[in-house]
Amino acid sequence: MSLKFFNTLSRSVQEFAPLTPGKVGMYCCGPTVYDFAHIGNWRTFVFGDLVRRYLEFKGYEVRHVMNITDVEDKIIRRFRETKTSLREFTGKFEAAFFEDLKALNCRMPHETPRATEHIAEIISLIEQLLAHGIAYQAADGSVYFSIEKYRASGRTYGQLLKLNFEEMRAGERVKSDDYAKEAVADFALWKARAADDGEVSWPSPWGEGRPGWHIECSAMSMKILGPTFDLHLGGEDLIFPHHEDEIAQSEGATGKPFVKYWLHGAHLLVEGKKMSKSLGNFFTLRDLLAKGFTGREIRYSLLTAHYRETFNFTLGGLEGARAALARIDGCVAKLREIVGSDTLSRVQADQQVGRTELVAHFTEALDDDLNISAAWAAVFDWLRETNRRIAEKNLPPDEASASFAAWGKINSVLGISAVATAEAPAEILALLEQRQAARKVKDFKHSDAIRDELKAKGWVIEDTPKGPKLKKVKKHRTFNLQLPTSNACGNECWKLNFEC
Ligand code: AMP
Ligand code: ZN
Repeated sequence: MSLKFFNTLSRSVQEFAPLTPGKVGMYCCGPTVYDFAHIGNWRTFVFGDLVRRYLEFKGYEVRHVMNITDVEDKIIRRFRETKTSLREFTGKFEAAFFEDLKALNCRMPHETPRATEHIAEIISLIEQLLAHGIAYQAADGSVYFSIEKYRASGRTYGQLLKLNFEEMRAGERVKSDDYAKEAVADFALWKARAADDGEVSWPSPWGEGRPGWHIECSAMSMKILGPTFDLHLGGEDLIFPHHEDEIAQSEGATGKPFVKYWLHGAHLLVEGKKMSKSLGNFFTLRDLLAKGFTGREIRYSLLTAHYRETFNFTLGGLEGARAALARIDGCVAKLREIVGSDTLSRVQADQQVGRTELVAHFTEALDDDLNISAAWAAVFDWLRETNRRIAEKNLPPDEASASFAAWGKINSVLGISAVATAEAPAEILALLEQRQAARKVKDFKHSDAIRDELKAKGWVIEDTPKGPKLKKVKKHRTFNLQLPTSNACGNECWKLNFEC
């Protein structure tokens, strides 16, 4: 079966066929950095990570972009209460966001552009819209997108959400970044500097001001992924107005289709209610870590429900996650024990992985618009069967090896296993074999030299009664939070750190 997603644009489940075979350009609306991200935000970001990991599992080369919204209305409101610079204020929450992303074992996006570093691109996009006659500067000095002119040019406003234009009064304007469907009106692309904005403004052809929130995402996504790209993700609350406005601005400027597939995650409720500080059910990731839960327990919990279903988050559910992970860990550890190091080579194991029921059922489930419940059912069936065979001493090492490798492959998508599943690479296994051969003929000088060579490559040998075992030496590196955005090799560095 081929991969299918529910596309908000067509309101149907569609086969996924990227614009360039084998490659996927994917943009996820990132955090607005004025506070610590809450567990609802994390549901959406973990959903984005699942999409990326699954596409990579399917063999696609993914370019994952997640913006950092570091200037918009809410930020300005909060920032005014502090005595810091805008960068200092947003930098603190941005750094916390990346720390949390790592705590939840999300793969680092390849690009994390900041809005404040794309003012030139934003201005140029607004200039294109003005040149096409679908934007105008109003008497208040701000530049607005004209929905009427856009529609008159033959384009559709309301591609993701059906809108009733009869109720709209032409020429009405909305300046705030967020507004309801009922308030649909010309929206701000560039906001003329207001007294409340303080020092937060940039020069532009229309005077000092700052960008509207929606144009930020259009400018950054198209700069990095081009005028048309494959996937755009976010929480369901972003469908309107944010994503609708992104489509209008981007297609209005380029005349090309903006995004092929729009994926939206449903919201998270806490104990059945919308999260709010006054109800005492508002949790940041940090609140939950402080209660003693781990990042992987929280990740597991967020991955239990289908992304298009509202997820009811409970602390009791996190306890359940702990128990489920302990079962998985126990089984994987036992498998590892049986596998030892003298069974299948990595290549042989890889060949067998594809034939395992676990991988087949898991793939079938996730191909079907990321049917995670069916994917978990496959995992727990496998767990039950594996435990049974281990208990009955009926799991030969070669089958255990294939099963262990299959779990490693599944876990590359789920990202929840604590027990290392990485097999030693073929080169390392070959060295181990040579060392065993040398020991057999009592050539200890040679076998010691091989042991030292393995150590230099980061692997130590433990001789156990069941035979030799390979263990990867842990390397610790420090993580520089500025790296992903300030250093071209940020992504690689992040990945290395993940293996620490
Ligand atoms: P923000 O930082 O407010 O821009 O939100 C970041 C992401 O979190 C967006 O994709 C939102 O749609 C998403 N989001 C906000 N609240 C929730 C929630 N309760 N459940 C799931 N996703 C949410
Ligand atoms: Zn966005």
